[in-house]
Amino acid sequence: MNKVVLLSLLSLTVALLTSCNENDIEKRQVTITATMPSDDLSSSRLGSIINGVPAADGFNLKAQWKDGDKIQVFVRQDGKVYQVESPSRVSDISGDGKTCLFMVTLPKSVNRDKDYDIIGVTGVEAYIDGADVVASCDLTRVGIDSSDAPLLPMWFACKKSSTQAKFRHLCAYEVLYVYNSSESSITFRHSGFEVMTPWYKYSDKIVLTGNSFSGYEAGQTDAQSNEITIPAGETGTIMSWYIPRFDVTDETPDATINNARLKAIVNGSTATSTDALKAYKSIARGSAYYMQATWDGSTLNFSNEFCPDGNHPHAIDLGLPSGRKIACCNIGANSPSECGDYFAWGETTPKTSFTKANYKWYSSGDDHNITKYCSNSDYGIVDNIIGLQPEDDAAYVNWGPEWHMMGTATINELLENCTIEWTKINGMHGYIFKSNTNNGAIFFPAVGWYNSGGLNYLEDEGAYWSCYNSPTVRPDWAYVLSFRHGDLGWIDLKSFGRHNGCNIRPVYVGQE
Ligand SMILES: [Zn+2]
Repeated sequence: MNKVVLLSLLSLTVALLTSCNENDIEKRQVTITATMPSDDLSSSRLGSIINGVPAADGFNLKAQWKDGDKIQVFVRQDGKVYQVESPSRVSDISGDGKTCLFMVTLPKSVNRDKDYDIIGVTGVEAYIDGADVVASCDLTRVGIDSSDAPLLPMWFACKKSSTQAKFRHLCAYEVLYVYNSSESSITFRHSGFEVMTPWYKYSDKIVLTGNSFSGYEAGQTDAQSNEITIPAGETGTIMSWYIPRFDVTDETPDATINNARLKAIVNGSTATSTDALKAYKSIARGSAYYMQATWDGSTLNFSNEFCPDGNHPHAIDLGLPSGRKIACCNIGANSPSECGDYFAWGETTPKTSFTKANYKWYSSGDDHNITKYCSNSDYGIVDNIIGLQPEDDAAYVNWGPEWHMMGTATINELLENCTIEWTKINGMHGYIFKSNTNNGAIFFPAVGWYNSGGLNYLEDEGAYWSCYNSPTVRPDWAYVLSFRHGDLGWIDLKSFGRHNGCNIRPVYVGQE
């Protein structure tokens, strides 16, 4: 036999072996359709389902598959678990990012004629521990660049004959915005809520078993975390994930957070927020809870717990019977705890001096010589206009036609449908109005009001104009939501002289 023939025979053998092997791989391949968890909860709760891609309005993220996503796959048969050699890459992503395909090559040790389960994990590393598949899950994974949120931990389990992988979230999420108002850069490491009764488990791993999973409980000081650097005057974002404290199945109810303080490590030292998170807040697997805190150089404060992000104003749904939503902050304020601007009633430009002489609707400073909004000839020119017209409505003029000043009906609705608590937020006293029917809450800072002598009652009283004057009382007065804290205090609809300086909290009326 010459060399040429020998080489040909060898080639033929190699070719036969190769094709045999390829055939075998093909038989062991299963193509599976992967679907993202549903986003249904996003409309009914504070926060929303998140995964992956930040939306323009902050972290109202949409669950979407992206090119490059990988799925680690395991196969369980007869009590043994096998890992599929290399992670599956997703392909054929649908236009809305909700579904994709991926291929699994069953390990050779798996008998294809018998039953087996497939378990897949994405977003975190997973490995085999005895007869379990374990997802490695550090408590706090990432500081987030706004453009590059991570794929969050998800998993699925399916049976041999299924070609559908319905992914589910492993954790609940907390997105924390930290504003550094100090004069120097900080390193910030978030270590979670400090609560009297733990409401969650967090762990460094999650055991996936059948159709449910459980986390290992860990001490509250065990928190792992990535560190972010936040320059002076800037905001950093850090996300944590939590495993709600129960064995998790799809039927699991929400967990709630109450009386929590925020614990963090700033420049290597432990910092705890001064203000407790008082409201009961729901947090569920697959949902995100948004929070803002400010580091002022010595103390960590909750900025607020009302808004989904820092882009104020927000229209807060308190579940009022009328459906009206209330602004999260005052006109002129940059956050719910700031005082904002003071206006005389029916004026649209803020002032810091409020006298009868400089009031727009008194002729020559005479409150018995009213030039508009008068229904009694003893007080001026009668026009019988009661409510402010749009051009004299400071909310309409300063924020646009979607916003109006509160009517007396709205003020009464607030008083009747909310639980009211005196509190301190970000160093400012005031009343928090918590909805009796949903998670909504707004804060009215007690930032006083102006009379001709200047600003009075700062930290003790608040006064928020309605859009109605009070013709049956006196047309030179207008209705105001007024409160004062303490034993002799009140919170009620009252009438003030129109030339005084009060705050304005707009109502969202939407497109009309
Ligand atoms: Zn807001």
